Amino acid sequence: MKGKVYLVGAGPGDPELLTLKALRALRSADTVLHDDLVSPEIIKLIPPTVLVQNVGKRCGRKSTPQEEINLLMVAMASAGLTVVRLKGGDPLVFGRVGEEIESLRRANIEFEIVPGITAAAGAAASARITLTDRRAASKLVFATAHCKSGRAALGQLSPDATVVLYMPGDDYSIVSAQLRNSGLPGETPCALVSQATTETQQVVRTTVGELASKIPLPAPALLIVGAVAARAVETGFHGTQEVSLVNCRPQL
Ligand code: SAH
Repeated sequence: MKGKVYLVGAGPGDPELLTLKALRALRSADTVLHDDLVSPEIIKLIPPTVLVQNVGKRCGRKSTPQEEINLLMVAMASAGLTVVRLKGGDPLVFGRVGEEIESLRRANIEFEIVPGITAAAGAAASARITLTDRRAASKLVFATAHCKSGRAALGQLSPDATVVLYMPGDDYSIVSAQLRNSGLPGETPCALVSQATTETQQVVRTTVGELASKIPLPAPALLIVGAVAARAVETGFHGTQEVSLVNCRPQL
């Protein structure tokens, strides 16, 4: 009898943002293969009898090659195990899950997808802003500055869109140039959000032009660009206790 694979989203960090379905999958699994992005608090919710493997980074090695993860999932499910492939945020957003689904289909392995709260939603909540606003933002674009072959062109971006840029990298001058090349004026508001929904979350409000000189925030971080970002509430290391960085930290 073949087993089954659950492709599960762990949400942006706060364990309370895990879905009930995700928790049930974690409790019923024989084995969990997780990415680095999954917070330690969530790993702690997995029963001790479950075999847990971090396929993000191992013993100082670089991350496990995608092909190896695909093979591992197929082998374990073929041996009859219930496998949870646990990913940060939502598995279907920049999660390489397309390649995993293809291998499972090819091997005729049953699978189910359990959505999670994507980092964009977590980051907007941390910055206390809306992602759409009928007065200013009628489109929402999830984009990344990275692709398999390096930097991805962002294409033409319109000022009535909110752009959430995943994986902005740690040299914001590159992202700033990419956004300007996509037609956004330098004064377009944006917000950097680091470690959203966790105790160590940070929110820094800036503009596309000024972004170029900002020091990188701790990973994982993303960038919310567009009119809605003008209202981002800046926060330091104090979780939900709002600490305005405008007065207590020199502007970078
Ligand atoms: N599947 C994930 C995204 C994976 S790509 C999701 O749906 O959220 C990894 C990128 O997501 C990171 O480089 C960062 O840009 C973003 N990210 C993930 N968790 C985050 C968090 N807690 N705060 C800010 N950005 C986060």
